[in-house]
Amino acid sequence: MTKTVVITGVAGFLGSYLAKTLLNTNGIFIIGLDNLSTGNMENLQEIIHNSNFKFLKADVSSSDILQLVSLLSADEIYHLASPASPKFYQSTPLDTIDVNISGTKNMLELAKRTNAKIVYTSTSEAYGDPEVHPQHETYRGNVNTWGPRACYDESKRMGEVLCYLYHSLYNVSVKVARIFNTYSAGLRNDDGRVISNFVTQALNGKDITVYGDGLQTRSFCYVTDTIAGLMLMMEKDAANGEIINIGNPIEYTIIDVAYLAKDLTKSSSLISFHPLPQDDPKQRRPSIEKAKKILGWEPRISLEKGLQLTIDAYKKKLNL
Ligand code: NAD
Ligand code: UDP
Repeated sequence: MTKTVVITGVAGFLGSYLAKTLLNTNGIFIIGLDNLSTGNMENLQEIIHNSNFKFLKADVSSSDILQLVSLLSADEIYHLASPASPKFYQSTPLDTIDVNISGTKNMLELAKRTNAKIVYTSTSEAYGDPEVHPQHETYRGNVNTWGPRACYDESKRMGEVLCYLYHSLYNVSVKVARIFNTYSAGLRNDDGRVISNFVTQALNGKDITVYGDGLQTRSFCYVTDTIAGLMLMMEKDAANGEIINIGNPIEYTIIDVAYLAKDLTKSSSLISFHPLPQDDPKQRRPSIEKAKKILGWEPRISLEKGLQLTIDAYKKKLNL
């Protein structure tokens, strides 16, 4: 029997990778929704003519989405729609809030009506600028409501609240993934996130732009690992009603990432320093004990390996 999977944000970085991966499995029909605000149709080139894939240009923040009859066949919903790069979520902050609150409520409502399982892609930003390290799912976070990141952090947190309510009030099968920094060459070159910036800059011989002193840390997960984690969340019943970190537990300073990108590309780029954006988290690393226990999941790709794959693919994309 064919399973219908709805993916919101399907034309984006993670959504398009997820759709391509799922289409390798038999018996899956995907309905992909996107308003093409940060995503683009190029990401769907490989699958747009696949008879098991249907793309609908639609805004999931609008309640009109619930009138789409084709969605009533949903068995599984991956709700990924939302800008994820600070550059983009801060340029349309009210839309960011809408998609994470109204968009999430609409998808939960769809799950309730169709009895579908739903994976909601929350974020490590739910922990804000964490004071506890590493971040376990039980840590409640340190988030500022009064700043440029709040539109994303707080609306993602409210999305989690809605998941909790639909789960507890209506018994909807909800799984919340708190995704930590994920990368590959699937990121737009102008995405603004650090791996995309550093590799693009290094390959073009431009300055590698480190914000602040570069001693802030992040933990980087290659796209294949993150997507495997999301698919396991959908599959495993034990993840129902749970929040689970999906990320790589190996932590790097940003300055180390700059040198790594420079070394691996053999670039002559200089490293230049720029002001640190307001509320930029100082340290971030997931505890993945819960993911290991419930999903049997842990990342496989090291940053060195993932960066090399990213560099090779960006080179092709940029004809270098
Ligand atoms: P992305 O910007 O590449 O993709 C998001 C997609 O959502 C885009 O195609 C965009 O056009 C679409 N979209 C935005 N608003 C929409 C709306 N109202 N209606 C329909 N479509 C809409 O981002 P990404 O990196 O692929 O992130 C996907 C999800 O994962 C996001 O929810 C993000 O918050 C979450 N996440 C990603 C990361 C990461 O490192 N990539 C980390 C934490 C959380
Ligand atoms: N960053 C940087 N140079 C860049 C882009 C980002 O130094 O060109 C830093 C940024 O200040 C942050 C880290 O890299 O400390 C990760 O930034 P990104 O925007 O990728 O993700 P997020 O801050 O949401 O984790």
